[in-house]
Amino acid sequence: MTKTFFIETWGCQMNDLDSQRLSGSLKLRGYRRVDTEGEADLILLNTCSIRDKSEQKVFSRLGRLREMKSERELQIGVCGCVAQQEGEAILHRAPWVDFVMGPGNVGHLDQILSGDRRVAIDFPDDRNYDYLAVDRPSATKAQVTIIEGCNKNCTFCIVPTTRGREVSRPFDDVLREVRAAVESGRVEIELLGQTVNAYRCPISGRDFGALLSAVAEIDYVARLRFMTSHPAEVNDSMIAAMRDHENISRYLHLPVQSGSSKILRRMKRLYTREHYLETIARIRQAIPEIHFSTDVIVGFPGETDDDFEQTLSLIAEVRYGSMFAFKYSPRPGTPALKIGAPVDDAIASERLTRVFDLHERIKREHLESYRGRILPVLVEGPSKHDASMLTGRTDYNIVVNFSAAASTPPGSMLGVRIDQAQHHTLRGEAVA
Ligand code: SF4
Repeated sequence: MTKTFFIETWGCQMNDLDSQRLSGSLKLRGYRRVDTEGEADLILLNTCSIRDKSEQKVFSRLGRLREMKSERELQIGVCGCVAQQEGEAILHRAPWVDFVMGPGNVGHLDQILSGDRRVAIDFPDDRNYDYLAVDRPSATKAQVTIIEGCNKNCTFCIVPTTRGREVSRPFDDVLREVRAAVESGRVEIELLGQTVNAYRCPISGRDFGALLSAVAEIDYVARLRFMTSHPAEVNDSMIAAMRDHENISRYLHLPVQSGSSKILRRMKRLYTREHYLETIARIRQAIPEIHFSTDVIVGFPGETDDDFEQTLSLIAEVRYGSMFAFKYSPRPGTPALKIGAPVDDAIASERLTRVFDLHERIKREHLESYRGRILPVLVEGPSKHDASMLTGRTDYNIVVNFSAAASTPPGSMLGVRIDQAQHHTLRGEAVA
């Protein structure tokens, strides 16, 4: 009988893509994917450790699966960053788990399923990236990893431990994967990496800007996006590639984390407030219509009122279209633990509210500024909230729900006249 599997994914896009790879690799081995854990012979939890209490969440989830395993034949695997971080300890605390597999071993699932290894948390030189086996959930969009790991060692971040040192994929290998994705109808390509713009081809040394240009010039790539850029890795070649290719999204996620150079130094972010703002200005000069988004941490150890005010003033100056803000959360094994105690929780909460309030105002003005304009929108399919409408994204990565002929195929690029700005999205009507 055909074996079945269920994957639960937490966390970032890198984890999403790892789940697509795991799913594709299981399907190649004859497994069938099911939508509920109750039907599965194999359950994979693809975990994330970026936020507070991630480990507790995983163990409480495993506790619930224990009961299921006592009733029937079932294999349970813990994958992702919590697997990498906790390793063998997971098997001690939850002995009903069959295997623990870190992100470096996604391409080696075979050895693990065959029972050869119960704990696989190394970073093999051969990461075995079989792009033809990626089980892509979207018919129009493909995510493509170009670099894994991170060499930056920001003091608050667990990624260098859980995903290892940077390893870039060869340039031609990436182009082959993009061409294969385009041939299968995926017209939107998203290049992924923890520090995507640190990319360097391990064979030719070509940089991220060169890769961006080469991917943008592949026929039928209607839109090219990438995540996540590090401010210290933005260079002229990257900016020129974005400026010179209209199909590269006019949206750049550039995490600032703090507006205070003192805090940025403590975070080891490798740039100052001034350097960050200069980078924004250089990009805006080349691409005036660009839309920025960012990540912000409030309450990092040692953050004073003045440091925090500098974060607010930076947000007001850059006027981000979207933003992800969090209270600092101490992660086990990170250098920030030695820097000092986090800011008092009540103060950090109040700061977070002020960040959200400020950004809410900016975002509203942003969205309102599109009213009456005609924006190019890449169609994704029917809107989830209103079946009579379609949904898609603008070049600035804003979701637009709009009326258009229901026969419009996903992957089309349409002009949409914006007539309403909603809380996070726009509404409009397709124009001829
Ligand atoms: S650059 Fe990003 S992924 Fe790398 S250590 Fe810093 S926060 Fe973590």
